[in-house]
Amino acid sequence: MKVYMSIDLEGICGTTHWDEVTRGGERYHEFQKQMTAETAAACNGALKAGATQIYVRDGHDSAKNIIAADLPEPALLIRGWSRHPYMMMQELDSSFDAALMIGYHSLGGSPGNPLAHTMSNSRVVSVSINGLETSEFLINSYTAAREQVPVVFVSGDQALCEHASSIIPALQTAAVKTGIGDSTVNLHPRRVCREIEEKVSSALSGDLKSCLPILPESFDVRITYTSCMEAYKNSFFPGATLEQDNMIRFESTDYFEVLKLFLFTL
Ligand SMILES: [Zn+2]
Repeated sequence: MKVYMSIDLEGICGTTHWDEVTRGGERYHEFQKQMTAETAAACNGALKAGATQIYVRDGHDSAKNIIAADLPEPALLIRGWSRHPYMMMQELDSSFDAALMIGYHSLGGSPGNPLAHTMSNSRVVSVSINGLETSEFLINSYTAAREQVPVVFVSGDQALCEHASSIIPALQTAAVKTGIGDSTVNLHPRRVCREIEEKVSSALSGDLKSCLPILPESFDVRITYTSCMEAYKNSFFPGATLEQDNMIRFESTDYFEVLKLFLFTL
C-alpha cells in the first residue's frame, strides 16, 4: 500500500498565533516538533495498516519544517517548492492508494481557527469554486480526485474537520483544537498523536474507495483579493477576467488549468 500525506502547521495541536508557525518565531521550534510528532503518528498508523511506501509532503511556508530523523524510516520527505501546480500535493500520482491531510486549517474568512486562510494569508480574502467557499483541503482533495486517489483522513481544527466531512462524508477526522475568536482550545499534544495514529490505521484498513472525492466537470473560480491592484494584475492571467474591482473570475473544464491559475495568482 502506497500512502501520501500532505502536512500543514496551522491545524497542528496548539498553534494559535502567526509567530508560532513562522520560522524565527520565539516558539516556532515547539510547534515544529509537534508537527513532526503528529506526522510520525500518522506514519505509524499507516505502517500498522500495512503501508509499504509513505510520501510525506511538508506543505507549510518554506516547506522545511518537519524534522526528518524523527519520522519512521519508510517515510520519504518532500521539502521545498518545485513550483509544480500540485503544490501541497507535489509528487502525487495515480499509483497511490490513499491520501491523508495532517494539520489542516479552516478556510480564509471563517471563524474556526485564528490562523484561518486560503493559500495566501495577506493577499487573498477568499477563493470560491462553483459557488463553494474553498479551503486548501478542497483544492488539494480535487487534486487527489484528479489522480483517482481517495482522501481517507484529515486532522486539524474542529471547523475544518466538519468542512472536510461535508465534502467527503466517509473520511475519518481527528479534531485537535477548536478556534474561538483569537484563541484555541486544544487537546493534550500526546493524546492528539495517539488519536491520529489510531484513526489513520483504522481509515487505511477501511473501504478506501468510499473516500474518493468527486471532481466537478467544470470549474467557475472567483478569487477575491485584499487589494484592487492585485486583482487588476491577476486579471491578465490567460483566461481570467476582472469580475469586480477586487475579484477575478476564471472558467475551465480542466482542473489542471485551475491549479495553474492558483500557482500564479494565489
Ligand atoms: Zn500553512
